[in-house]
Formats: sequence, structure tokens, C-alpha cells
Amino acid sequence: MTLPHIAVLSLGGTISSTRSGSGPGVTPTLTGEMLVESVPEIAEVAEVSAAAFRQLPSPEITIDDLVELAAEISHRVDEGAAGVVVTQGTDTIEESSFVLDLLLDLDAPVVVTGAMRNPTLPGADGPANLLASVQVAASEAARGLGAVVVLNDEIHAARYVRKTHTQSTATFKSPPVGPLGWVSEGTPRVAVRLVERHHVDLPAGSQDQPVALLAGALGDDGRLFPAVKELGYTGLVVEATGGGHMPSATVGPLADLAGEIPVVLASRTGSGEVLRRTYGFPGSETDLLSRGLIAAGPLDGRKARLLLSLLLRSGAKKDEISRTFDRWLR
Ligand code: ASP
Repeated sequence: MTLPHIAVLSLGGTISSTRSGSGPGVTPTLTGEMLVESVPEIAEVAEVSAAAFRQLPSPEITIDDLVELAAEISHRVDEGAAGVVVTQGTDTIEESSFVLDLLLDLDAPVVVTGAMRNPTLPGADGPANLLASVQVAASEAARGLGAVVVLNDEIHAARYVRKTHTQSTATFKSPPVGPLGWVSEGTPRVAVRLVERHHVDLPAGSQDQPVALLAGALGDDGRLFPAVKELGYTGLVVEATGGGHMPSATVGPLADLAGEIPVVLASRTGSGEVLRRTYGFPGSETDLLSRGLIAAGPLDGRKARLLLSLLLRSGAKKDEISRTFDRWLR
């Protein structure tokens, strides 16, 4: 029986971190090849070719790295890989998987995984997560799902997944939909499929577009907002309180900024859509949207920031950006 070919690309993170040198704590040291060799069961599931793409703690990964990674993944699939597994730090998995989901238009599964307990700890979860990820990447069931995150035997859509706990191995959740599926005795099960996939096409040689992410809070007077454009940001996402509300003192500075660069209104709550027509007080969602802010819909601030940055990078102007965010609501 011929086994499917799966490419594993490693970027660093806890799954690859060991003690090296005399400094405190663990740092990324193991390569993709070493990770795959440490799990002999993988050879029963797939023929794997592994390569180290980066060796970083995950907050160091940039959007430019991910644009390059997306091209490498497409190349591996063109060369015959049935699926691709990316290993990286869990801190930013919800962001990198979403960028890959937006940039790639493949049927082949693209699975991003990591670990919460590094290989030097009892109960390290990296080996089990890597095996489950290869099983998902090699499965027919996961084709056409877009980029997914597999940890703790759960399959999560990149669009909704978020890290919700600093240390738990069950840290990944996908409010409000829940996981798309799970892995049972080595078999991936897909119970839910998102109705639509979304993509952003980037022209060759596109330049990074810095988008700021700021959270609203009780009593904020908005004095930071005028600095956003001066500092060179080309867009802003505000994680407002509740359904999309800011203190009234911030409305003027936010409206001025929205006249100059796209400003997206998201919610800091972590789940649910930004409101559009419920409240009418100064600083409410109706007030802010009437002043040119763009509703993030069901995307949280971190995902909205990445979508905005990629849209700006694709050359989209404010109208097209608004229409794209609106399309997420269909
Ligand atoms: N704690 C992180 C991890 O899970 C560190 C990182 O994100 O690189 O890998």
C-alpha cells in the first residue's frame, strides 16, 4: 500500500524547544526532521518529508514570513504532497493559521499544530499533536476545509480558533462554533464545515502594511488615536467594549482617523458579532459606524487586523475593504 506524501514545515515554538546553553528556560532547537523522527507511528500513516522553515518563538513570526510560507506550501502541494503540516509556537497559531487560510486556495489540508508542554516535560503533548496533525493532513475528510489547527485531538477552523489559556493543553477553543471535528483512535472525523471560504490575492512583491491593534477600556480618552497615523500605521483595529462601544471622548479622534486610514471596529469580548443598529448613545456602534468605522463582523480584533493588513497589501481601498468585511456576514 502506498502511503500519502505529507510535508512537515517547522517554525519553532514549544514543540521544538529544549534547554540549550546556560540561560534560563527552553528555546526552539529541534528541527522538523527531528520532531518527525521522534514519533515512529507517523511512518505508519504517511511518507513524510520534513524541513525547518524558521526556528523562532512564535511572536517573532511576521506576515512576510507567512506570505513566504504560503508560497512554500503551494509549492509542496504542486510537487505532490497530499497535505501539509506546519509546526510552530501556540502563542500566535490563531494568527498564522488565519493568514494561511486567507492566502491559500487549496483542497489539500493545511494543518497548523504546536505543543503546550515542551519535550523536556512529563506529558509533553507535541508528539501526539504532530501524529494527529499528520493523520488529519493525510485524510480525505479534511480536504477543502482550508487551514485548520489541530491540538488535543481537536480540529479547529483557522477563522475562529483562539488560544484561551496560558498553559492548559485544552487551550484552543473556537467560539461561537466549536471545533470542526476531532481525531478518534487515529481517525479524523469532520462534523462541521464552514459554508464559505475567503481569500485575499496578493500581487507579486507586495509590501507589508502595518495595522495597529488597540483595545478600548473604561474611561479611555482616546489620546493615543491621533498618533496612529503619525507613527506610520496604514490601518487600525479597535477592540471596543461589548458590542462595539467606546467612551464618548474617543469618538472625535476615531472619526478623524477614519477619515484618513481604514479603522475597523471589533469587540474585545472574544465572541459574537459587532452590533450595527442596536444602541444610539455617543460612542455606540451606530455612532462609530456612521463616522466611517468599518464593522469587523464576527472576526475578533486579531483576525480583523490580519485581514485588514492583507487587504491593504493587496491594494484594496476603503470601499473594497468595507465590502470584504461585510461579506463575512453572509
Ligand atoms: N508558548 C509558546 C509555544 O507554545 C511559545 C511560542 O509561541 O513560541 O510554543
